[in-house]
Amino acid sequence: MSELAMPVHAPMDLFPVQDDCLLAGGLPVTRVADCIGSTPFYVYDRRIIDERVRAVRSVLPGGVKLHYAIKANPMPALLAHMAGKVDGLDVASGRELLAALSSGASPGEISFAGPGKSVGELEQAVAAGILLNVESLRELHAVAEISKRTGRAPRVALRVNPEFELKNSGMRMGGGAKQFGIDVAEVPAALRAVRELRLPFEGFHIYSGSQNLRAESICEAQWLAVELAIRLAADAPGPLRTVNIGGGFGIPYFPGEKHLDLNAVGAGLARCARRLAEAMPQAHLVIELGRYLVGEAGLYICRVIDRKVSRGQVFLVTDGGLHHHLAASGNFGQVLRKNYPVVIANRVRGGPREIASVVGPLCTPLDLLADRMELAEAHPGDLVAVYQSGAYGLTASPRDFLSHPHPAEILL
Ligand SMILES: *Cc1c(COP(=O)(O)O)cnc(C)c1O
Repeated sequence: MSELAMPVHAPMDLFPVQDDCLLAGGLPVTRVADCIGSTPFYVYDRRIIDERVRAVRSVLPGGVKLHYAIKANPMPALLAHMAGKVDGLDVASGRELLAALSSGASPGEISFAGPGKSVGELEQAVAAGILLNVESLRELHAVAEISKRTGRAPRVALRVNPEFELKNSGMRMGGGAKQFGIDVAEVPAALRAVRELRLPFEGFHIYSGSQNLRAESICEAQWLAVELAIRLAADAPGPLRTVNIGGGFGIPYFPGEKHLDLNAVGAGLARCARRLAEAMPQAHLVIELGRYLVGEAGLYICRVIDRKVSRGQVFLVTDGGLHHHLAASGNFGQVLRKNYPVVIANRVRGGPREIASVVGPLCTPLDLLADRMELAEAHPGDLVAVYQSGAYGLTASPRDFLSHPHPAEILL
């Protein structure tokens, strides 16, 4: 491949640059570091989150609800902020449920999906009055038993494992043999059980994948999800109130990836909403997004501790690494390691420039934040910023590996 044809990162222009230093929440990140008093840290910018929520809402047809999947980033201050911006929160564990309840979101707008829910988690969900996306017959019977024992009415939807998958997806969550949801072929039997157990039934949850950058693939999966919900509803004990068709909206992480065409996704959703309104006027559509809402609003910042040259190759050794940001190191589901967008935060465009690798302090070659990237020449004391770090960062990382201090998080 010629030099010119080398794929490059999509432009990272959501965080402004002033005096060649990145600004987060309007402050130079060098100043943010001083406010926190230590590095490394994650900084999230609420203005960028708000702008993203506004952009999504501007293409959502009326009546379609926007949920935030909190596993993307469950920082309490960020959750409280999101609770005021979206129509509902999706949780995937008992502790996420506590976090969601603490955020100020109303329990009526919280839903819980995830395989292998424990009896304790199901009890919490029934007590809180949130919507349970039930993923097996075992869960259905457990919910019925809890309801009988406590006298509390549960709220039940079925999570369906569809026969289609989200094409060109970073992560497939449906189609074929999966641990998620109930296979389409088993759904009529599950609906019979819902009826026999007299469980209040609200609808379906059909989620087929994550991290997709192609609008046409997302639109196709969402259309198929709506069609499937309409077909399955024929066996439901009553009219559906909700059809959650997931999300899967991706953000560009790696060279060659481009931003999702949000307008095209909105046009597809409008077709889905019209189709659902014709077939089931009492049901509303829900989409649930994680990384698309918060992923681009976060930076991971670490400090250069040492600058080493090994056989001609420059290594910037920092105080941050895979223990804080597993995904940026390439060890969170990537098949071939590629670089996240990385810059020297206090010398974004500055020269001279050089090819350098950014590594962490862990005793493993996997502890790599940037592999031979072009960066401004950097020295101990300089700050490194990893973009696209607002989702699947800290809580998706093995922060106790090698027992270094945990990074701070701040929402500005
Ligand atoms: C993880 C998850 C999401 C969010 O995925 P993103 O790629 O962050 O948008 C949505 N729904 C369910 C059920 C999930 O498990």
